[in-house]
Formats: sequence, structure tokens, C-alpha cells
Amino acid sequence: MMNLSQKVEELENLTIKKLKVKIESIRTELPREEQKVITFSKNFTLSLSNYCQNQCGYCFYNQAIPKENNEHNIVLIKEEKINDLIQTAVKCGCTEALLMSGEAPDTFIVVQKELKKRNYRDFFQFVRNLCETLLDVNLLPHTNIGVLSFAQLKSLREFNASMGLMIESTCESLSNPGGVHENSPSKTPENRIKQIKNAGKLKIPFTTGLLLGIGEKFQDRVKDLLLIKELHHKYGHIQEVIIQNFTEKIGIHYRPNKPITIEETLKTAGIAKLILGNDIAIQVPPNLIQNYEKEALEMGIDDFGGISPFTLDYINPKHAWPTIDFLDKICESNGYKLMERLPIYKKYINKKGFCSENIKKVINNINQNVRNKKDS
Ligand code: SF4
Repeated sequence: MMNLSQKVEELENLTIKKLKVKIESIRTELPREEQKVITFSKNFTLSLSNYCQNQCGYCFYNQAIPKENNEHNIVLIKEEKINDLIQTAVKCGCTEALLMSGEAPDTFIVVQKELKKRNYRDFFQFVRNLCETLLDVNLLPHTNIGVLSFAQLKSLREFNASMGLMIESTCESLSNPGGVHENSPSKTPENRIKQIKNAGKLKIPFTTGLLLGIGEKFQDRVKDLLLIKELHHKYGHIQEVIIQNFTEKIGIHYRPNKPITIEETLKTAGIAKLILGNDIAIQVPPNLIQNYEKEALEMGIDDFGGISPFTLDYINPKHAWPTIDFLDKICESNGYKLMERLPIYKKYINKKGFCSENIKKVINNINQNVRNKKDS
């Protein structure tokens, strides 16, 4: 059996040609009807508050970064904004509502005051209420609001189709002086791993992933993919792994000496496929790999993630989402079929204990609406 450094060396030296052959062979292990399918979820984003207790060097989102065009920070998303977004999402036929925010925004007095004004005890109660509101209109929440306690995860699982937290990188030196996590006290590998484990114990279908190009090395990526594999082996709850590349932005502190390339990102997606196989979907955000979609398909990706017809990628606002039609054409011209999925992957809907009754009810409503549309 190979040790970690031998494994890393073997993977690092793999040519793209050899990688493609191995990936091809892994995909043939899928049922025939799934071998040429790429999925996506039609979603929209609710950016709840961009106040964050951390300040990651690469982050463009948090309140400390000056906003372009005199845009304001979001203390707490306004009720009117929520209603507008929900109405548009329903009109567009979205099924997933991605709830995102900075971490623990209610550590800031300005957020606490706003919550109090609107009769919420804390930010967590606000999020939970919003999840319930979304389910009432047949939108399935996927919450990713940073590190949460076991009790908070437990409370949210009833109202979320799936949840997420990027592992990003467990490379310890990122927290050292000069590292991107130097000013992010809660962004420790231990906190993130603990949350993924807790989600596993609670049987929450989970999304995690790597953020590439933030100061980690190739061997850190391999180590983290092996860690994800181990966590999934133990708990069986990781439905997808995002391989996301850092993109440069104006106003942030981090300036990599050697920015991550799309080629390197896609090679990592291919390596993720080798390590994780077909049991966990490999996802790359298509707005960050523009013009390389064919290469992404060749690297064995399974999924293009959440595509919003009308909201921004708040983390990479300069990178617009491609249209679903565009992705459809790309897939078709490369012999693949693009298919819509829900924020909970099919196999988790019926996996014992992974889908709450609240979520099952909404999935049934969504399926019924699709049938009604077909019949009309
Ligand atoms: S924890 Fe998230 S929102 Fe907060 S600074 Fe880091 S990347 Fe930005």
C-alpha cells in the first residue's frame, strides 16, 4: 500500500491523457443511463447578511471590503427583498434556495439591533424561520452560513434539503501570519471537520469542497480529498464536492504569486474523481471555468451546481452564470445530457433518515407541479 507522499507523487505525475483514461473507466462503472448525464440545480441565492466574524484574505463578500458602485453592506436582508426574490424564483421555476451569509453576523451590534427590531432572538432563529417560509412556497432550502453547533445543525436539518460548508483547505499554514486565514479565528480545519462529522451523525445530505489557489499545495489538496473520502466512508452523507478556483478581485488583500489556472483546477477535479469515484458527485462552478466546459466534462465532472436565472454569484460577482440553454448546448455537443436535479440528490431522498418529512412533502409538491405542467 502506498503512503501519502507516494500517492501524491503518483497523482502529480499523471499526464492529462492518462488521467482521462482512468476517469473514462470510472464513469463506465455507472449505470449505462447515467454515464453521459451532467446535472445542475435551478436555484437562487438569498444573501442574508454579509457581516462576518472572520476576514479571509481572499474574501470579497464580508463587510470590511469596500463595495463598488457605493453598494451597501447587508446588515440583514429586508423583508421586501425576500418577498421579491421568492416571487421571481417561483416564476422562474427554481427549486433550490441557497441561504448564505457571513459567519455569526449577530456578533455585530448593528445586526443584533436589526434582529431585535424585527422580533428575532438571534440570527439563527431568523434563518430557521426563513427556511420554513421557503418550504411553504415549495422552495427547498440549502443553507451554508458557516460554522454551526451540533444543536443548530440538528434544528435546521428538518427544514433543509441539504446543507453545506466548504472544507476549503486544511493546510495549517494558511492560519499563520501572512496566510489567508490569519484573521479568521473560527476558520480552523478542526471546526470545519467537526461540522462535516456532525452533519454526518445527523444524516444531513452535505456539500463540501476545496477552494484552490489560496496558498495550499498540491499535496494538501490530495490530503483533503482523502479526508473527505474517509468522512463519507464513515457517515455516507457527502453528496457532492465542489472544486472551486480562487479568482482575483479588486479590493481584497490576497494577491497570489502564481494564480491558480483553470487547467490546474480541472486537473484537480479529475483527481477528485479518481479519489472519490462515482459515489460523490464532482462539481465545478461553470462561471469560473468559462470556455473550458468541454475540458471539465473530460475530467469526469458530474455536476454544474446551482445555476441561478436571476441572482448573482455573490462570491464572484464579476463571473456571471451561464444560461441553462448554453450549458445544455455544450453538453449536447460533447455527447452528454444536461438534467435538472433537486438540491438533495435522488439517492438521498429515499436513503433512510436523510430526508425529513417536511422536505419529502415539498418534493412531492414539486413533482406534482411538474406533472400538472406536462398535462396542461
Ligand atoms: S468566513 Fe466566509 S464570509 Fe467570512 S470572511 Fe471568510 S470567506 Fe468571507
